Amino acid sequence: MVASGFDGVERRGLMFVLSSPSGAGKTTLSRMLLEREPGLKMSVSATTRPMRPGEVDGSDYFFVDKPKFEAMVAQGELLEWATVFDNLYGTPRAPVEAALSAGQDVLFDIDWQGTQQLHQKASVDVVRVFILPPSAADLEKRLHTRAQDSDEVIRGRMSRATHELSHWAEYDYIVVNQNVDDAFAEVQSILKAERLKRERRTGLTEFVRKLQRQLEK
Ligand code: 5GP
Repeated sequence: MVASGFDGVERRGLMFVLSSPSGAGKTTLSRMLLEREPGLKMSVSATTRPMRPGEVDGSDYFFVDKPKFEAMVAQGELLEWATVFDNLYGTPRAPVEAALSAGQDVLFDIDWQGTQQLHQKASVDVVRVFILPPSAADLEKRLHTRAQDSDEVIRGRMSRATHELSHWAEYDYIVVNQNVDDAFAEVQSILKAERLKRERRTGLTEFVRKLQRQLEK
C-alpha cells in the first residue's frame, strides 16, 4: 500500500501498535499521539463489552452484541480478534486498509493476542510498542483514579496485568511510563524513526535517481 509521504517520497503506511496492562497510560498516550501527529489515524475496535460512562459508540469502540461480533468474524471482517476480560474485541479490517492505502499510518490500542495476529499477517508493516507502568502501586492508583470501574473489576484488571506483562518480550520497543510527557516523547520518537526506515519508503529509488540526474547536469 503506497502513497506519498510527508516529504514527497512515496512510502507504505505503517501499523503502530500500543499495548500495555490497562492503567499504564496507553489511552492518554494514544490521544496525545493523535492530536500531535499528522497522518496517524486510530483504528476503532469492535467490542461486546458494555459502554463505560463518557464513551461514544463509533468513536471509542463500535459497541456490538455477541451475535453481531460473531457474524463479523464469520465474514472475515476483522483483521484480528481476541477475548479480553471475558469480552470480545476485534479490529475491523476495511477502515485500516483504506487508511493505509491513503498513505496514513494506523494506531492500534490492542492486547498482546491481537498484536501477535497482526504481526503474523503483516510483520514488515507492524511496529509494536509496549508501555510499562513504573510500579504496581502506580498501576493500581491509576486504575482507581480513572474511577470508571468497580473495585471488583479493578481487582480483575490488576491480576490480569501480571499475565499481560509476561508478553513484553514480543514487542519491538518498551516504554516505561514514569512521566507522561517523557513517555510521550519516547513514543513519538519511535514513530518518527519508524517512518524514516528505508524499506518502508518505496519511492526512495526514484527520488535518488532524480537527484542523481540533477547532479549529472
Ligand atoms: P478496555 O475494555 O479497557 O477498553 O480494553 C481492554 C483491553 O482490550 C485493552 O488491553 C485493549 O488494548 C484491548 N483491546 C481493545 N480493542 C482491541 C481489539 O480490537 N483487539 C484486541 N486484541 N484487543 C483489544
